[in-house]
Amino acid sequence: MKARYIYMIFNTLKHVMGELRDQSDHYLLDPPLLGELITALRGLGYSVIGPVVREGAIVYDEIESASQLPVGLRDRQGPGYYRLEERGDKAFFGFVVGPHSWKRFLYPPRVKLFTVSRKGEVTPNNVLGKKLAFIGVRGCELAAISVLDKVLLGGPYVDPVYSAMRREVFIVAVNCTEPGENCFCLSVGTGPEAGSGYDIGLTEVVGDGVHYFVAKAGSSAGKSLLERIGARRATDEEVSEAAARIERARTLFRKGLDVNGLKDLLYKNLESPVYAEVAERCLACANCTLVCPTCFCTTVEEVTTLSGNVAERWRRWDSCFNADFSYIHGGPIRSSRMSRYRQWFTHKLATWIDQFGVMGCVGCGRCITWCPVGIDITEEAAKIRQRVLEVSAT
Ligand code: SF4
Ligand code: SF4
Repeated sequence: MKARYIYMIFNTLKHVMGELRDQSDHYLLDPPLLGELITALRGLGYSVIGPVVREGAIVYDEIESASQLPVGLRDRQGPGYYRLEERGDKAFFGFVVGPHSWKRFLYPPRVKLFTVSRKGEVTPNNVLGKKLAFIGVRGCELAAISVLDKVLLGGPYVDPVYSAMRREVFIVAVNCTEPGENCFCLSVGTGPEAGSGYDIGLTEVVGDGVHYFVAKAGSSAGKSLLERIGARRATDEEVSEAAARIERARTLFRKGLDVNGLKDLLYKNLESPVYAEVAERCLACANCTLVCPTCFCTTVEEVTTLSGNVAERWRRWDSCFNADFSYIHGGPIRSSRMSRYRQWFTHKLATWIDQFGVMGCVGCGRCITWCPVGIDITEEAAKIRQRVLEVSAT
């Protein structure tokens, strides 16, 4: 009995200490301090990458100040649909995700591997990496970076380019308070709140005459930066308001993926007629793989100078939707669009789990938005499940 009481007291103290520690990690930023944060990161030698508007879409690029962020804009999304519109407020992060992901900075679309001269001298291109600060990383995107870490750093073959680019990354995450039409992170457990792996986690509170960020320090580097820019501790009310906005976001999702038994379902139904139906619409354009924050397939190509004295080998993003991607001794293994869609779909949702211990899909919805014919990964998964139920009912 005595031991039980000691255990209960210990647990209560642990909980209280945890709460206190948690509370002490929350700071308050007003909008000008967001600019100070960017300036401070640049002062520490980071190239700061954040969301900006380019050609009608919100993409990621280097920024120098908070004024370059897409203030007051939201992105309306649907299957094969993306438009920006005014929100009617001054929110800095009032949108979700666009066609870019952080993959393009950690695992560039095109990178030189080496140069070789006619004399046979080989000069490797040792990618050195640089200090990168990502501003506005969503929960799904943080999960995607964690997936890439497993794929490109976690096995016996470490990717030297990714490893160099990933080494000094400072992450400012943003919790989502308004999910987009194609988001389904809630159902796959990656959002709307950012999980672990960030240095600073922001929740933007805007409306009803207030505009501030509750900033949670996720690392000692994040905490010291928040203190360096003079952010004060957030009050209990401010922290509660931010938490309430995230809780409310959980009720606003319109899309979901039923992951219950999904891997086995897909393994048992590789001949589902749904794949042939999708192939009737799929253009094999590869958009879905290029916008996906976790797809990592590449190819290599050689280019030579006109004189033929120097050749370079480059690596560039490729896609399993390209027929040549599975070309082996005389022909592609997956010659039909059906087999290529099935390869991508089952890799994302099933075989990836066997390879890396996690799903290859983090629920960002990009492949739905940027598919020109609006093919929706959640709907196709639901159809396969439904067909199985229909067959077993007959
Ligand atoms: S498969 Fe689609 S929804 Fe899933 S992570 Fe890739 S782009 Fe996002
Ligand atoms: S599913 Fe859509 S985005 Fe992907 S290859 Fe087919 S048509 Fe292109």
